[in-house]
Amino acid sequence: MITLHDLTKVFPGGVHALDGIDLTIADGEFFALLGPSGCGKTTLLRTIAGLETPTTGRVHINTTDVTALPPGRRDVAMVFQDYAIFPHMDVTTNIAYPLRVKKVPRAERTAKAADVAARLSLTALLHRRPAELSGGQQQRVALARAIACHPAAFLFDEPLSNLDARLRLEARTFLKRLQRELAVTTVFVTHDQAEALALADRIAVMSQGRMIQVGTPADIFHRPATTFVASFIGSTPMNLLPAHPADGALHVAGATLPLPAGLTPGDPLTYGVRPEYMDLSLTPRPDAFPGTISVLENLGTHTLVTLEPGTGTTHIQLVVPEGAEPPIGTPAWAVPRRALLYRDGTLLTTL
Ligand code: ATP
Repeated sequence: MITLHDLTKVFPGGVHALDGIDLTIADGEFFALLGPSGCGKTTLLRTIAGLETPTTGRVHINTTDVTALPPGRRDVAMVFQDYAIFPHMDVTTNIAYPLRVKKVPRAERTAKAADVAARLSLTALLHRRPAELSGGQQQRVALARAIACHPAAFLFDEPLSNLDARLRLEARTFLKRLQRELAVTTVFVTHDQAEALALADRIAVMSQGRMIQVGTPADIFHRPATTFVASFIGSTPMNLLPAHPADGALHVAGATLPLPAGLTPGDPLTYGVRPEYMDLSLTPRPDAFPGTISVLENLGTHTLVTLEPGTGTTHIQLVVPEGAEPPIGTPAWAVPRRALLYRDGTLLTTL
C-alpha cells in the first residue's frame, strides 16, 4: 500500500509541481497517473521513488514512513521511458543487476534472472547485449530487471512510449497480464488516456499539480467530474455545448430537451455528450441538434461525422457505423442518448 499525505513540491523558481496530493493506493492495485504535459505526473512518481524530496508532506509504503529514505531503501522498482538498461551488459547481467547490488550470490542471481527471463519470453536472448535487441525486447529486459528484485511496488514512467503503435498494444496486454499474475502494486504514468483506461484499476487525472478526479476507468469515462476531465478523456473528444434553462426546458444547440430538477434560469451550464452516444436522424426532431454534414472521417469500423450548425454554436461530432454515413451537405439531426450536465465546469448530473 502506498499512502501520500498532503504532498507538495515547489521547484526553485516557484513552480508548484505538486499541490496538496492526498492519496491511498491499495496493495496490488494498478494505478495510473494521467494528465497533460507538465501536470506533475513524473514529479509525483519520482517523489514516491525517493528521487525527489517533497517540499511538504509524507510518503508511506505499507506502514513505513519512507519520506526521508533514499531510493535504494524504499523497496520499489522504477522503469523509465528509456528503459535505462546497461549497454555493456548482456541480458542476464542486466536482469541480475539489482540482485548483485543486494549482494545475492552469483549462482543464485543467475538462476533467478533465468527464471524471470523465461516468464517474459527472453530465454533465447539471455546472452545478447541491448544493441542486439528490438525496442520491445529491451523494454521486457527493463521489466524483467524490475521484477527480479521482488519489490513492494513497481513505478512505471511511460514505459511503452518508445514502442511503435502495434508493439505498444501488445506490450500493454502483456503488462496487464503480468501485473495480474504478480499482484504487485503498480503506479503507471502516462499521458495516453487509452492506455490508462485499458490498464488501470483506478486512474488519477492530474492538472497543475492537483488531482482533479480519482476513480475507476468507468467513472472517469462515464462520469468525468469536470469539463477538463471530460475533454481530456475519450478517443474522439466529447461535445461540450452551452446550455440554457428556459420555459421549463433545457435549450442546447437548437435542441429542446427535458429540464432536470433544481436548475435556475441563468445558471452557466455545459451539456456534454460523447460522439459515441448520439444517433443520426435524417428527419427533423425537436430533441436533436440540427446541422449539415460537413466532414466525414473514416475510423475503420465507424465514421466520425461532423455537423455544422446553421448559426451560433460550435460544430457537433457523432460516430455512426461505417457505411451508414450520408453524403457531405446532407441536413441531419444528432439525437443524444446519454449525456452529462455541468454547472460552472463541475458535474451536476448525468442525463
Ligand atoms: P510530461 O508528461 O511532459 O513528462 P509531467 O506531468 O510528468 O509532464 P513533471 O515533469 O512532473 O510533469 O513537471 C511538473 C512541473 O514541474 C512542470 O512545470 C515542470 O516544468 C516542472 N519541473 C519538473 N522538474 C523540474 C525541476 N527539476 N526544476 C524545476 N522545475 C521542474
